[in-house]
Amino acid sequence: MKVTMAQFEEHSHRKNLFSVSKLKYAKGDRPAVDCILCGVRDKEEIVPNLSIASTELSVVSVNLYPYNPGHIIIFPKRHILSYTELTEEEALDIHRLTVKTLKVLERQWKVQGFNLGYNLGKNSGGSIPHIHEHIVPRFPNEAGFLDVFANTRVVIYEPYAMLEELKKFWDMEV
Ligand SMILES: [Zn+2]
Repeated sequence: MKVTMAQFEEHSHRKNLFSVSKLKYAKGDRPAVDCILCGVRDKEEIVPNLSIASTELSVVSVNLYPYNPGHIIIFPKRHILSYTELTEEEALDIHRLTVKTLKVLERQWKVQGFNLGYNLGKNSGGSIPHIHEHIVPRFPNEAGFLDVFANTRVVIYEPYAMLEELKKFWDMEV
């Protein structure tokens, strides 16, 4: 089924308005854990579990602080801070998961543009040191790349509804 952006926005408004408390959370009140991504990996109860899928080496998750609908992150299970610490096996695994994520979003939501990237190091705008790749779907008539990666926007939608839909799509994609 093709979903237009207008339909998507209508769907989002109908089902997925953030409450004030969730919005506050999205703006920075994070769970008190040493590393939120290790918390996702370990399924710690105080961390919202937004993971779509995982492999022996990596995790695919809806981003807790989305820039756009469908904003996904992929990260190694090992708590590493630098891209250069990735093993070739981890890099290949993340690549394969990236390909599958792109296929899911292209096929199911007809997304026609993406920004992929890592924020590495203290001047990059990243806020979680455990490295993670961002996959940000892009839609017509929105801001450019810098806005997406400058950490200035918070998208209002309900992450768990998004998660359930993406999990279903993930299982459908070979
Ligand atoms: Zn970590």
